[in-house]
Amino acid sequence: MATTQVEGFLGGQTLKWGKHRRIKIGKVLRNFHCRTCDTQRTFVSGDELSCLGLGDNQISIDATLQCIECRSSVEIWFLIGSNDDISGVAPEVRIERYTENLRDRADRIDGHRGPFSDLVKRAQLAYENQLGAGSIVYLRKIFELVTFEVAEIAEIEIKKNNGKNIPFAVVLEKVNEVRNIIPRRFSSNGYQLFRELSDIIHGESSEEEALQKYRPCLQLVLGVVDEVSRDNEYARAIEELGWDVKSISEIAGGSVA
Ligand SMILES: [Zn+2]
Repeated sequence: MATTQVEGFLGGQTLKWGKHRRIKIGKVLRNFHCRTCDTQRTFVSGDELSCLGLGDNQISIDATLQCIECRSSVEIWFLIGSNDDISGVAPEVRIERYTENLRDRADRIDGHRGPFSDLVKRAQLAYENQLGAGSIVYLRKIFELVTFEVAEIAEIEIKKNNGKNIPFAVVLEKVNEVRNIIPRRFSSNGYQLFRELSDIIHGESSEEEALQKYRPCLQLVLGVVDEVSRDNEYARAIEELGWDVKSISEIAGGSVA
């Protein structure tokens, strides 16, 4: 992870494990979409931040930020690490973890919108909290929803005569024969990735492997969404189903490059 050299912010004094200190390093600013203001706003912290010592090389910083307009308040948390003494004059630091608690008051600007936004958000949150299999569950859910919708439009059976579901992998293959939904750039390994989504969910990969596979799997899944919305006929049909095609493209073209 990239490190940055910063000016010493602990005043040259070690912050012992479990001890708190208020530090002044300037205000923390983050831009969010404020739900009360219904627009993008800057959220700003107070002058002092609360630091918790975790040893010589790590500290935790909590901050609460307010919308500059309506004063809606959210919380953020950083875990900061350093190879050398973090209380030094000019430590090399890196952000090891970052978490937001935006409650129902704000949303991330780069947050995905549209019919799958909730699932993408959940996948992303699970990933950021290092929940490998958890994040993959949501990706697979999106993949399944899209595939079944296309199956319905293309009149592909998804249930056997006895009313039981046809295995998803079989439906996917049939759907992909009629209408290529697996993006070309994944055509050689699209099924492979899908199998991996399943293996991870069924506990056949370690959490670490799952986390490593999150990004390629996210790109595959959003690529599938994009591929479906590119086709006029399907786009129209999807629109009739009540999906917002523009949102789908936004999701697919979003911050996954
Ligand atoms: Zn506001």
